[in-house]
Amino acid sequence: MIKYLFSAAISLLLMFALLSSTHAQDSDIKMYVTTSGELELDQGWLTAMTNHGTMIDIPVPMYIIDHPKGLVVFDTGMSVDVVPDNGAEYWGPVSQAFIPSMTRDQGIDERLQQIGKSTTDVKYVIHSHFHLDHAGNISMFPNATHIVRKAELKNAWWPEQFQRAAYVLDDYKNTRNFNFIEVTDDLDLFGDGAIELIDTKGHTQGHQSLIVRLPNTGTVILAADAAYMPENLQGTVPGIVWSVQDAMEAIERMKLIRDRENGEIWLGHSMEQFQQRRLLPEYYD
Ligand SMILES: [Zn+2]
Repeated sequence: MIKYLFSAAISLLLMFALLSSTHAQDSDIKMYVTTSGELELDQGWLTAMTNHGTMIDIPVPMYIIDHPKGLVVFDTGMSVDVVPDNGAEYWGPVSQAFIPSMTRDQGIDERLQQIGKSTTDVKYVIHSHFHLDHAGNISMFPNATHIVRKAELKNAWWPEQFQRAAYVLDDYKNTRNFNFIEVTDDLDLFGDGAIELIDTKGHTQGHQSLIVRLPNTGTVILAADAAYMPENLQGTVPGIVWSVQDAMEAIERMKLIRDRENGEIWLGHSMEQFQQRRLLPEYYD
């Protein structure tokens, strides 16, 4: 009898172990990583006072998060209008300092199609900021709700003189009547902690980064331009900044969250890091 009880107990334990391990792998959130092409530029733009004169190629990441409560895009990359002549006409002179290379199938609309979605399926477009390599295709989403920091929206329309070159007004000149949520605080998008926007101003006046908490992958902080390169996490000031003080505090903030949650910071423009990613149509969950 004792033997039977014992084996029944073992079977129950096994069943629970099986159930809980299945549960641990259950995730109905998928995060896709992709790029809208590459930029060639002097590394000095990214790591102030180091590596000036070294030309490098960097990825221009975009993220698509398929959450049960809605499809989310984080940054829309470079405008597809740079495709015909690598930005010479659409971007103008700035395309000589930031040299884009992009093919049409790298546009966010086609990236969505590559996973069986369309721009009209997207519920929220979250903008890290409005620079030319991040909000280039906002106009493809007239029916989505756009989430941007209030300070970013105002400064994109009238940037400080020294920040003007990286804002291409044509990217968003037709979007004034779009539905914007203008955030001034951190925001837990769906109330479940899965997607949280955090204030990381410094690169621009209204820059924000995104914390994504995935059941299997864990905590990922999508830094966008709050930290472009590994050097920025080691104390090297990002080359393009509105406020050095705020930019460095934003990096410390992301590191604190990373360490607290045993997570990772995914840098905005590190080719070395990007090459390690599983890319769309594969995903993280
Ligand atoms: Zn950027």
